[in-house]
Amino acid sequence: MKKFELMALPYAPEALEPVISKETIGFHHGKHLQAYVDNLNGLTSPPNPSPIGEGSSEDIETLEEIVRKAPAGPLFNNAGQILNHELYFMQFKPIGEAAHVPKGALAEQIEKQWGSVEAFKAEFEAKGVGLFGSGWVWLSADKNGNLVITQEANAANPVQKGLKPLLTFDVWEHAYYLDYQNRRAAHLAALWQIVDWRVIEKRYDG
Ligand code: MN
Repeated sequence: MKKFELMALPYAPEALEPVISKETIGFHHGKHLQAYVDNLNGLTSPPNPSPIGEGSSEDIETLEEIVRKAPAGPLFNNAGQILNHELYFMQFKPIGEAAHVPKGALAEQIEKQWGSVEAFKAEFEAKGVGLFGSGWVWLSADKNGNLVITQEANAANPVQKGLKPLLTFDVWEHAYYLDYQNRRAAHLAALWQIVDWRVIEKRYDG
């Protein structure tokens, strides 16, 4: 079983300010995500058995496989949190880049199901605000390209439901407490400024 590694961020740690501070990135990516990586490496190193056999491929595929197959417990929790955070951190762009709006097939499907991108965002934010405790709100696609918003507790991921994850907001307090304290709604509303819709479109089309 190969070692899992901490993903590299595709932007500088201060690039998302003021939506997400450099300090929050430092803790969220450098401490919390690093701990999940270290934990998973411990859980999958000898004498612990490999959860899915040798010769695993890319991290994201391997992580998805563990999340789909592992029973509830530390292996699932740590693999799930790494998968969730990789999808989360990769979906943002520096604040200085031009704003984007959804385009193409994804935009058409959002408009078909919600009437407008603004209506979709409102429901997505409300589901994030309404998630009790720690977890993630997700936009995913089913096999027919229909979109669905789900609330997932703790380390869960929509791949467990056969869905393709597209976009996620982390509502664990470690994602926002340094910058927003208890104001989860304000944090979620601000995140749209740094969502890179080109990444979400690629996930939808891919
Ligand atoms: Mn997190």
